[in-house]
Amino acid sequence: MYLSVVVPCFNEDESIPLLVERLAQAIAPWADRAEIILVDDGSDDETWAAMEVASAQVPQLRGLRLSANRGHQVALTAGLEAARGERIFMLDADLQDPPEILPDMMAMMDRGYDVVYGRRAERKGETLFKRLTAHLFYRFLNVLSDVAIPKDTGDFRLVSRRSLDAVLGMPERSRFIRGMFAWAGYRQVGLEYVRDARVAGVTKYPFRAMLRFATDALTGFSTKPLKIATRLSFVSLLVTVFMSVYVFGSLVMFNTAPGWASMLLAISFFSGIQLLTLGILGEYVGRLYMESKQRPLYFLSQETGVPTQLQQGSDPVVTSVVTEPSSTSKAS
Ligand code: UDP
Ligand code: MG
Repeated sequence: MYLSVVVPCFNEDESIPLLVERLAQAIAPWADRAEIILVDDGSDDETWAAMEVASAQVPQLRGLRLSANRGHQVALTAGLEAARGERIFMLDADLQDPPEILPDMMAMMDRGYDVVYGRRAERKGETLFKRLTAHLFYRFLNVLSDVAIPKDTGDFRLVSRRSLDAVLGMPERSRFIRGMFAWAGYRQVGLEYVRDARVAGVTKYPFRAMLRFATDALTGFSTKPLKIATRLSFVSLLVTVFMSVYVFGSLVMFNTAPGWASMLLAISFFSGIQLLTLGILGEYVGRLYMESKQRPLYFLSQETGVPTQLQQGSDPVVTSVVTEPSSTSKAS
């Protein structure tokens, strides 16, 4: 197998027919040595049915269905673990990332790169708020993080087998895949592209999901927030020095130390700081706890389009457990 395409899909039934059509065209030059893996991330619309229909039409297509919604990064991981290609191409199901860029990425990889990531030169059909927060996020992350994570990129990229194996060797639960590739190293290069609007449906990243994603990225790639407590303690020391000068000054000059207002302010200021640092600490402790449970990242409930000899001959997957279709229910 030469080329694997991996697409996580959550409630994307409207996009899938066009997605599969455009992907089948994009992989045409390598059609006899390629596979397309669509991962249904526990959708509650007709995504799985659309995958079954598509897999009857496109022989390279494999569908994997997760037992429940596990989120974009885990769904992508499930597809990456199933991929058998020497080169692995990943993109979103909504066709915001054009599959037609694949030949250019392949040509870049021929020149010896291990990771060719798409860099968003322009984002169409996204709100100003989303563009602004995304812009700030990548810059903020780079200030805090110890690894240089390419700015304005997503998971849209072509990667080599060895860089994928490096990433799959990281069993962490809070997965920030683009950062994990950056951390793994190897030769990387960006390719600019224009990010289109969604072909159908709505974004699966409302503000709350974006926030969670951003905290995963920050805590996964930096421990600097933990040092914030130490830094803030210097601030509080400094404020205390100024306040004592003021208090002693007014005691000496006016024989009184007025200021229930300043006391109230000081109390709220420092309790704010304490709660903030506690919260940051809690964020890391909670993550430690979740990681320590070592639960599998996902379960597969159904597969489609897998040739039988491949099913038997494939390697056991580390973080996934395959269950029988009948033994899982989608009721949640
Ligand atoms: N996605 C997923 N599981 C989720 C949320 C999203 O598999 O819980 C998929 C989604 O189907 C899409 C990709 O992740 O293929 C990116 O999501 P989306 O396009 O909604 O994000 P945006 O482009 O708006 O940031
Ligand atoms: Mg999208």
